[in-house]
Amino acid sequence: MKSNRKLIKGVPASPGIAIGHARVILADDIRIPEMIIPAGRCQAEIDSLDKAVAATMAEVRKLRDAASKKASGPIAKIFDAQMMIASDYDFIQQVKEEIVAKRRSAGFVYKQLVEKITHPLRQANDPYMRQMSMEIDAVARKILSKLGTGASDEDIEFPANTILVSQVFTPGQVLTFRDRKAAGFAAAEGGRTSHMALIARSLMIPMVIVEDISDLVPNDAPIIIDGSTGIVVINPNEEDFAEATRLRKRQGPALITQIKKLETIPPKTADGRTMHIAANLELPGPIDAILAEKKICVGLYRTEFLYLREGDYPDEETQYQVYAQIAETFAHCKVILRTYDIGSDKMKEDGEFGHEDNPALGWRGIRSMLEMPDIFKAQIRAMLRASARKNLKVMLPMISDLSEYERARKLIQQVMLELKRARVPFDPEIPVGIMVEVPSAALTADLLARKVDFISIGTNDLTQYTMSADRANARVANLYNSYHPSVLQLIKMTVEACKKHRKPVSICGEIAGDQLALPLFIGLGVEQLSMNPAKIYDLCRLVGKIDTAVARHLVESVMNCPSAAAVTRRLESFREALEK
Ligand code: PEP
Ligand code: MG
Repeated sequence: MKSNRKLIKGVPASPGIAIGHARVILADDIRIPEMIIPAGRCQAEIDSLDKAVAATMAEVRKLRDAASKKASGPIAKIFDAQMMIASDYDFIQQVKEEIVAKRRSAGFVYKQLVEKITHPLRQANDPYMRQMSMEIDAVARKILSKLGTGASDEDIEFPANTILVSQVFTPGQVLTFRDRKAAGFAAAEGGRTSHMALIARSLMIPMVIVEDISDLVPNDAPIIIDGSTGIVVINPNEEDFAEATRLRKRQGPALITQIKKLETIPPKTADGRTMHIAANLELPGPIDAILAEKKICVGLYRTEFLYLREGDYPDEETQYQVYAQIAETFAHCKVILRTYDIGSDKMKEDGEFGHEDNPALGWRGIRSMLEMPDIFKAQIRAMLRASARKNLKVMLPMISDLSEYERARKLIQQVMLELKRARVPFDPEIPVGIMVEVPSAALTADLLARKVDFISIGTNDLTQYTMSADRANARVANLYNSYHPSVLQLIKMTVEACKKHRKPVSICGEIAGDQLALPLFIGLGVEQLSMNPAKIYDLCRLVGKIDTAVARHLVESVMNCPSAAAVTRRLESFREALEK
């Protein structure tokens, strides 16, 4: 019998091996809430539809061109048919008319009208008709995903040990599906620093990113994914199963055992300087107590994941319980609680955030919180109430201007006054710091460092905004590189500003856990690196091999490198020399 085994190499996004069956989430799974839109918004919906159609046409054209190079005529013809469907003038006109007549969103109307066409085709006996319904679905899926419609997670059925396959997952979906015992995730889009990947790593659930994965894997097909190597095997044979099972057994408890093995925390450089290694956390989990036992602090607690988990803003009491628990678990360490960084890819589509053309440049982080002071103050109240042990710090995300810090600080002072009047205990000296993750903040780090209590550099966003390259877009992944000299210059400026004003400075973007970058940060004088717990063990062991004076020389030569590639080469040769 002919084997239809397929082995694909993708991008490793979250380590671990998952063995199971694929559940491909298609456009059929997309539920779009029916909402009446104001008459004035109809044109914006029509414009979004035009944009989604144009982007889909470009995407399909690219697929067709690639297919005609790699395969013979019939394959390329599939994409010709898809292009005809996507650009069907009469159909698009009908959608536009209904948007105006019914005052419904483009996504809602588009999906309803597509279903009217595909439903009878699906029931037809004629295989040609059924095939046609699949082509229409494939196009609709592309257009609807560009209209920013979200899948209804509750409606998607799957048994335990399923590996979910989709174009992309929202962080909320990763959380929900994990709770429902999904074994792993394979997505077609989204980079290693996408929030989807961050949350998968923090939940220790395997994830890979493979272009066109939803087209490559049939629903229900047996599948193995290896989130450490990025390898995916569709329809694996017995040897694949045996090998994956063996590897999974070996990897399983590795993280916890490794952290337990760590001896000197915080680690010291070869010349005896302390480098604080901290953890980035998203939600309460089994790793917390182990980290706390080793006195590993929390350099970034992404509280917006509570919002994503609940599907709404948790009330003050619910938040208080979580923050108080963290403060207690980490009683002997400092914990930096970051206020909600909601928006961009970390939001519910149907919430008050609505559709934005450029969400990463839009209403996210501190920007939205300052305009929703009740929600912000409820979060601050919960944090302050949990701060009585004096081990918490508050951090504000996405600060791009000093005035944002000052406005947030005023709101925090108001809450403090209210708590004082109500005789609720809290830490009146609680440090309030900011993330530097927007170039404007890095460029004005001197102004900011003068005022704030501490700074943590968020290199994930700093890279995306400096390079103008979406952190989750595989097409610009070549540009998205935290080792680019421009990003390194901004990091250096920020660290120097903190030193000048004697303010603590840390790094909490993904690069903080990068072994290659460690000597650079030691040389720059960064005091704390906060990272995914999976990176802690290796980083801690490396610190002791590095001498500060040597690392300072390295900084000088790295800062003169003309490109990210040259920086990487320089750091690699330093690393090789260390190993000798
Ligand atoms: C960052 O931008 O580097 C960061 C740590 O924040 P997040 O990844 O949550 O956006
Ligand atoms: Mg960020």
